[in-house]
Amino acid sequence: MPAVVALSPPAAEDWQAQARAARMTTAELLARVGLTEADFPAGVIADPQFPVSVPPHFLAQIRKGDPADPLLLQVLARGEEAWPQPGRLTDPLEEADYRAAPGLLRKYRSRALLIASGACAVHCRYCFRRHYDYGSTMLTRSGEAEALALIAGDAAIDEVILSGGDPLSLSDARLAALIDAIAAIGHVTTLRIHSRTLVAIPDRVTPALIDLLSGTRLNVVIVIHSNHAGEISGDVAAAMHRLRGAGVTLLNQSVLLAGVNDAADTLAAHSRRLFAAGVLPYYLHLTDPVDGAAHFDVDEPRARAIEMELRAMLPGYLVPRLVREVPGKTSKTPLWALPEG
Ligand SMILES: *Cc1c(COP(=O)(O)O)cnc(C)c1O
Ligand code: SF4
Repeated sequence: MPAVVALSPPAAEDWQAQARAARMTTAELLARVGLTEADFPAGVIADPQFPVSVPPHFLAQIRKGDPADPLLLQVLARGEEAWPQPGRLTDPLEEADYRAAPGLLRKYRSRALLIASGACAVHCRYCFRRHYDYGSTMLTRSGEAEALALIAGDAAIDEVILSGGDPLSLSDARLAALIDAIAAIGHVTTLRIHSRTLVAIPDRVTPALIDLLSGTRLNVVIVIHSNHAGEISGDVAAAMHRLRGAGVTLLNQSVLLAGVNDAADTLAAHSRRLFAAGVLPYYLHLTDPVDGAAHFDVDEPRARAIEMELRAMLPGYLVPRLVREVPGKTSKTPLWALPEG
């Protein structure tokens, strides 16, 4: 008799089990959404370097049997990725130039960014960090002391940003230790956490995390990374309300992605859903020229046209800032500040 493996779903509150349950093959992902390779004109591919990771909650928001589902397109490696992509880069932001200490990026005067974790709950096909060698750039326990000393020695830094990877893939205990160490630096007033985990595993908002964030003297901002209204489920909205109750300011950052959210009405619906969940739109990024992701690009003239439409549809506070990363600039660059071309 063949061995029978009992697959019981992880308990809802066990976010780490949900993170483990996210790992699957491309074939498993297709089977779970009721599709086959033949549903995609250019086929699908397997990327052993960056395996599929789709947590159960995110998977449940994907419309079954729809090869154009905007959530599915963010996590499925389509054949287009393997097409020749001349001029695409593996480190498009030239972040290697801004490494101030292992795991510390210092690009802007007042803000320091810690690459707190190399792990992500959900693996996004458009990610500019997918070619990263996290082993050499990530904050290690030994590098942490060096990074914190650098922040402590520079009074111009008033905000520390935890990024990654995804900092919320760290355990609550590890986050608590890191946040305490940052709070011990007198001139730091603000802690910012960038995370996509919250839309993939809303159960990540544990009581311990809420205690941690409401207990620190730091002013806490969380920037969630969401690209489509379909990601803001009732569970995600409830998690956002718990964070707001802890005094956290909630912002969202999106990437403008062809086939996912490159239409004004799609973006407007997203902004409204975010606002209903207590989150304000912050940035809408143009894609970076990362190798393998050209099929997500929206060119600048179209992006500007979509933004104009969006401005006519929404109050100003629900229109995200349309920006792109220009290597060497002292801030993100708004599209309006770039020459038209
Ligand atoms: C985007 C970014 C920041 C934060 O920039 P804001 O405009 O304040 O959101 C900080 N450090 C690095 C390296 C960044 O890429
Ligand atoms: S969560 Fe962010 S860093 Fe991680 S794969 Fe997705 S886009 Fe990249």
